[in-house]
Amino acid sequence: MDLTSRERQLQETARAFVDELIPWEVEAEMNRGELPPDVAAKHHDRAADLGLISINMSQSMGGPGYTMMEQTLIQEQTGRVTNALGWVVSTGPSWIGEVVTEHQMKTWIRPTVDGDIHECYAITEAGAGSDVDGIQATARRDEDEYVLNGEKWHVTSANLASYVFFQAKLAEGPNAGRHVLFFVDMDTPGVECARVPEYTHTYGHHHWEMRFSDVRVPVANLVGTEGDGMSFSHAWFRYERLMIAARCCGAAERLITEATAFAEEREAYGERIADYQAIQFMLADSLTELWAARLMTYETARSIDAGADLKAQHARCSMAKLYASEMANRVADRAVQIFGGRGFMRENVAERFYRELRVDRIWEGTSEIQRVIIADQLRKRGVSPIAG
Ligand SMILES: Cc1cc2nc3c(=O)[nH]c(=O)nc-3n(C[C@H](O)[C@H](O)[C@H](O)COP(=O)(O)OP(=O)(O)OC[C@H]3O[C@@H](n4cnc5c(N)ncnc54)[C@H](O)[C@@H]3O)c2cc1C
Repeated sequence: MDLTSRERQLQETARAFVDELIPWEVEAEMNRGELPPDVAAKHHDRAADLGLISINMSQSMGGPGYTMMEQTLIQEQTGRVTNALGWVVSTGPSWIGEVVTEHQMKTWIRPTVDGDIHECYAITEAGAGSDVDGIQATARRDEDEYVLNGEKWHVTSANLASYVFFQAKLAEGPNAGRHVLFFVDMDTPGVECARVPEYTHTYGHHHWEMRFSDVRVPVANLVGTEGDGMSFSHAWFRYERLMIAARCCGAAERLITEATAFAEEREAYGERIADYQAIQFMLADSLTELWAARLMTYETARSIDAGADLKAQHARCSMAKLYASEMANRVADRAVQIFGGRGFMRENVAERFYRELRVDRIWEGTSEIQRVIIADQLRKRGVSPIAG
């Protein structure tokens, strides 16, 4: 696909930065995902200097104002590194858009855009994941405050966050049962970490189980108005699904490159394994599927920049995420196979991606939920408005 010179330059900048991160992967893997604090700080400062933090924030919110295509190209590069080292290229809560108040901008959003503080999201619960409407967390208005209660699961980056977006349903009042979203500072009384479970990947970003017990927040912490809660989640899901697709393309590119290089040098039975068709076919299938995923992802980004209908955007982001995440998992599986026993060692890139990419078929909507969304749009709109 043709890229403008600015797009190509951003892509190159992000690629060169990620090339600096890659040598730190094994150290992170062997140290519970952590890098020495001075190294992590250096990565953050470097990303900031290169214009690679808060890449999704508009200029009016203090961000760089990149197009969706530019963000996609940057995120694709961050997908080439394991252990979430690429997450130093941050994406703030751009979904908040025009509903952000001056107070919220000053207290949370601007410091987030500047890279000084970080957020996390508490939406999922033990009994409600795909079915977000099934959440049990509650918010009750008490004069000029809300009182929040609930237990949340899988709260990513909670260990690094200063504040959390907490989603609940109103317990009473004229909007009872409708969704609400709040800014909640992590040090607010009643906010606690209930458990830090271990996950399949080795990331410095932990996924807490969190308990909110009679947490009191001022009315000024409400995002938008009562009942708006779900619309923000949808905007975020749409954006993040496309970015997952982009990162999966980056991961697949790295895997194909590394597996090809290994196959060219590894010998078995006196031949380079790259000379065996069984190996060639795995690489050929991987490259073909990467190209398809990349075209879908880029085309979706371009159509968003061109102002495509919101429902078509929703379906396309789901299709890109579904295809790219499943593609990347197939590519990782083949890469492990090509590396043989080495592909089962944690110091090997294929092993790490094999574990890490699995969650891309689960978070921000499972593959099944993406199919539900795509089928729903197909039945409502037909083929052309979505895939035409
Ligand atoms: C590492 C990690 C980080 C996460 N980070 C966050 C975070 O920061 N904040 C947050 O709020 N959440 C987070 N999540 C939660 C994540 O979004 C959910 O796990 C995901 O949406 C799936 O929900 P669930 O786990 O409850 O599975 P369930 O919804 O219980 O689904 C179980 C199975 O049933 C299938 N299924 C469900 N409904 C249907 C249907 N209608 N048709 C067909 N199949 C169906 C699913 O596809 C899946 O296979 C994270 C999860 C993980 C693993």
